[in-house]
Amino acid sequence: MMKKKSRKKIPRTQESFLKATFHCHDDQSWECIGCGKCCTMWDIPVTAEEKRRIESLDIPGFDFTARKYFTPSDRRGKIFLIKKIGSRCVFLGGDGLCAIHKHHGEKVKALACRLYPFHILKWDDGSASASLRFDCVAVSENRGKPLCGHLGQMRDFASELDKGGRRSKATYSKSFNTSTKALRSVAEAYKAILFERDISMGAKLNFTARLLDFHVDPANRQDIIHPQLEFEKDSVRYIRDHREDLEFTVLSAARPDKLLNMVFNYILSGFARVDEEVLLSGSFISGRLRRAWAILKFILDKGSLRDLGADYPDTKGLGPLNSMAKTKIETQTEIVLKRYMAVQLESLHFCGNPGLSLTFEEGMRHLLLAYPMIVACASLYAESKGLQEISPHCAASAVRIIDHTFYHSPFFSLLHVKKMTKWLTGKENFPKILRLMDTQELVHG
Ligand code: SF4
Repeated sequence: MMKKKSRKKIPRTQESFLKATFHCHDDQSWECIGCGKCCTMWDIPVTAEEKRRIESLDIPGFDFTARKYFTPSDRRGKIFLIKKIGSRCVFLGGDGLCAIHKHHGEKVKALACRLYPFHILKWDDGSASASLRFDCVAVSENRGKPLCGHLGQMRDFASELDKGGRRSKATYSKSFNTSTKALRSVAEAYKAILFERDISMGAKLNFTARLLDFHVDPANRQDIIHPQLEFEKDSVRYIRDHREDLEFTVLSAARPDKLLNMVFNYILSGFARVDEEVLLSGSFISGRLRRAWAILKFILDKGSLRDLGADYPDTKGLGPLNSMAKTKIETQTEIVLKRYMAVQLESLHFCGNPGLSLTFEEGMRHLLLAYPMIVACASLYAESKGLQEISPHCAASAVRIIDHTFYHSPFFSLLHVKKMTKWLTGKENFPKILRLMDTQELVHG
């Protein structure tokens, strides 16, 4: 069980300013615990100017004239990557501190280092959104100062990012455009659906996926173009009136067949991939082959999460969906899972992000599927520890895995992955997956 944290009282005005400045879910907290994970899991990009700035510093133990501490990024023109020794950033000292920060303060560090774990986007309509990245250990466990306590820092980041001129733009689907404002209302309605009480989470996720199908039809697009308040009211009224039918659809679904099991595992392996390790261990080719073999075994329920990422637990021989069917969700765990969904829906970070560039419809399917993926991953954690229930700690560990790739992995931009995501969240298959989760839920949420 996670310890109950005493939240520092934040003045009301600070909370209101947060909401007025950023689209965000304010129930997130962070204070760095110095675990150093972010200095090992990422390749850190720096601009040519940041590289020059760091190289002009006097840092004990670093000789910028004799050695190279940066390598050109082959994918992104004038961007460089900070070198690593083993899997650690070259500037991360044995004391767990960043040598640049330790000797010259935070301000001289590269933006990517200062920004983490904030995820801040500027949008085409001038608005800004913010969230904290769940792959940070402190964020996944909601430790530290509430988001509104970081307001000043977040504002500075937003204006610094704005100077780069890169803006996010979301559209509903490839076949028709909508305003970002309209999409925020649709996302708000989806959040109201997913937070409706006294109906199982599986039924709500399935209903949301069916709404996405409904709006694929051009005849139903008005709801999305002008969602206003009616869309939210009508959707919530619908689930209240049809609660039993919606739950029955999920609970009466057949068990997943072999193909469904394999496709689910394949997408889960995509969420759990850690590309840096492939490049670090042995040659590039042998690394790739090793990973392909690990994925194949994982798809067939014979692999282990450990083969996909060295920090993950050994889950050899445990099938993700089998594990999900056997493991119950602790009541407190639901808070962790729901926080993840609320953060995505309020920030709109599941779509329009220039990095991944998913449409709203694609991003929503990606998000809806992420929920059972997190539960399956948390089940593997729990089962590997001999637990029968998913604790908040297991859920936080699973959220770290899923969120690490959620917005950034090019895997999710691949056409076949988008098609598989659509297939998994489709009318035939999604209830079969969600049933495994719902039949084990202790508390309806
Ligand atoms: S992962 Fe989070 S808690 Fe750990 S060092 Fe990085 S910012 Fe701090």
